[in-house]
Amino acid sequence: MPSGRVHNLINIAVYSVLAAGVLVATRNDIVVVTQAQTLNFTLGFMAGTFLLSPDLDLSEGRVDSKRHWGILGFLWIPYGMIFSHRGLSHTWILGPLTRIAYIAVIVAIIVGLLRSFAPDVQLPKIPQPISIKFLIPIIAGYYLSQWLHLVADGVAPDHGMRHGYKKAQKVGQRVKKHF
Ligand SMILES: [Zn+2]
Repeated sequence: MPSGRVHNLINIAVYSVLAAGVLVATRNDIVVVTQAQTLNFTLGFMAGTFLLSPDLDLSEGRVDSKRHWGILGFLWIPYGMIFSHRGLSHTWILGPLTRIAYIAVIVAIIVGLLRSFAPDVQLPKIPQPISIKFLIPIIAGYYLSQWLHLVADGVAPDHGMRHGYKKAQKVGQRVKKHF
């Protein structure tokens, strides 16, 4: 299994090749990519590579992506305790969502605490509504960064399903024993 640094290098290398390809394609009018789309894709990709790596499931210990959070790194310790290494966190569709959901929960807790204990604090407002067009490049960049990590780990896209199937089989065997 590659180390955090190797994962980062792989992701940056793929990003560079992709960026060069898109640049050439735009110059030749093969594709049309706006600056905002490029920026959003890059933000999603970099956040996924450096801040939201699947290896945060090791956060009860020392891990590269937790270090990038600086003093906030401790916020990921519960995530590391909840998710076993290379389990659900390392699945193709749900895995990346677990980290987004985890952040959403943490933000909700912080906002809740601020509202109750410091009601005067002005919280930044999210501009409404956020358009799908704005979100798609961010999501694409984020998911690509996650999938590159999984490919480098040698995790197949049906990892989660097989995991679930095996569990179901085990439960089935246990149930049979009892009857
Ligand atoms: Zn990994």
